[in-house]
Amino acid sequence: MSASAEPLSVPRCTVCGVEVGSDTKRCPNCNLALPAARGSQVLGRTGLWVLGGVLLAVYAVVLLIVAAAR
Ligand SMILES: [Zn+2]
Repeated sequence: MSASAEPLSVPRCTVCGVEVGSDTKRCPNCNLALPAARGSQVLGRTGLWVLGGVLLAVYAVVLLIVAAAR
């Protein structure tokens, strides 16, 4: 795989900016642990929380409307 072929989609180390593989857990240059390597899991978790938050917000709005209508 040639990682240099796609400069924008290649994940980079947040500290030293070195290109790292998407499945790399640590930066080969500075040995920083890369949370971006587990991005899909973190994103899925965050997505669930966002979804829950949106549902709670809708529920609160409906409660407010019902309370105001009384
Ligand atoms: Zn690094």
